[in-house]
Amino acid sequence: MTTDIINIKWLLNTRTNNELLRGTALAQLPVIENAWLRIEDGIIADYGEMSAYQGSLSRQAQKKNLDTIDATGQFILPAWCDSHTHLVFAASREEEFVDKIKGLSYADIAAKGGGILNSANKLNAATEDELFNLAWKRLEEVSKLGTGAIEIKSGYGLTVEGELKMLRVIKKLKEKSALSIKSTFLGAHTYPTAFKENHQGYIDQIINEMLPVIAREKLADYIDVFCENGFFSAAETETICKAGMGYGLKPKIHANQLNLSGGTQIGVKLGAISVDHLETMDEDAIKSLAGSATIGTLLPTAAFFLRMPFQPARTLIDSGCAIALASDYNPGSSPSGNMNLVIAMSCIQMKMLPEEAINAATINGAYAMELQDEVGSISIGKQANLIFTKPISSIAYLPYAFGSNCIDKVMIKGEFL
Ligand SMILES: [Zn+2]
Repeated sequence: MTTDIINIKWLLNTRTNNELLRGTALAQLPVIENAWLRIEDGIIADYGEMSAYQGSLSRQAQKKNLDTIDATGQFILPAWCDSHTHLVFAASREEEFVDKIKGLSYADIAAKGGGILNSANKLNAATEDELFNLAWKRLEEVSKLGTGAIEIKSGYGLTVEGELKMLRVIKKLKEKSALSIKSTFLGAHTYPTAFKENHQGYIDQIINEMLPVIAREKLADYIDVFCENGFFSAAETETICKAGMGYGLKPKIHANQLNLSGGTQIGVKLGAISVDHLETMDEDAIKSLAGSATIGTLLPTAAFFLRMPFQPARTLIDSGCAIALASDYNPGSSPSGNMNLVIAMSCIQMKMLPEEAINAATINGAYAMELQDEVGSISIGKQANLIFTKPISSIAYLPYAFGSNCIDKVMIKGEFL
């Protein structure tokens, strides 16, 4: 089956070489004006300027089943690559949201049974099917908002059974969804109540009881730890990550959200794929990240929702760090998986250029899931995961019109949703 899309106003992020973008390269967004693009069996087969389309067509003429889509006035760009989410959860937490508006502190809410432990209680009470159905709806929602590849974490189980249940749900999502999905084991999200006074006991459970089963059933691609004061220390993060690495799970770490936790430096030391959050960075953490292959994944909607200072994106980019953007979709601190909003916020609040934001949410996001050979740019051989915009005036209009839905339709592996 061959599909040609013709008369594309602007075809964005066309790349012949895969490259993790950093520094000034992040602002370079290759574009073809008045373009065409060919899809064969869900894969990008060719593309170019409309002036050369007729020539490509004569070579294609003997082929049957040529379908043509006219995209006059539309921009087409690669679908978003959301490299950090907690999309499997049992219930929303808007009652805590209202408590915070009324002035309750994090500690007050935790004392009322809120926070991650609230999500853990509800998750442990839900069946695998219930969790799957809820997660499936969220996946459908974010894919219609342009997300074509996504990472999903465990971390609301906090028991052997609960963590495995979450990871099995993610495995099922992988099998049934057309989206590319990566799975991350985040048993070390917080300490469950039963281990409140026995942190080492829970770390032992992660290492000795959870990891061997996860490895045997191939339930995760990555290992994550919430490296934060009052949660898991840098040394504990290292111990847990190393245990995961022993089973072939590469680290992606929650680092430097609330404090200078040392998570960034530990991530770099371990060769983590990414260190995520980075609201709280000092010179040492930035220097460590800039000199490494580890990606800094920024989650601006989490900073927004928690009323925290935004991540220092400009300093990170100008220092040479490779950065990606992700939604952190979760019920506590970012109840939105809308990557369009993430991009708008990164431009409005973190002073990223629209081109930088699009690159960080596509090709660099793909690298943050090791999916750069499959998605993240308009390149021959990659999946035809495409966002078709409504008629818009420029690239900058996307983050500028932050309250508008600029997406006309989304294609995943050559099929419209
Ligand atoms: Zn997170």
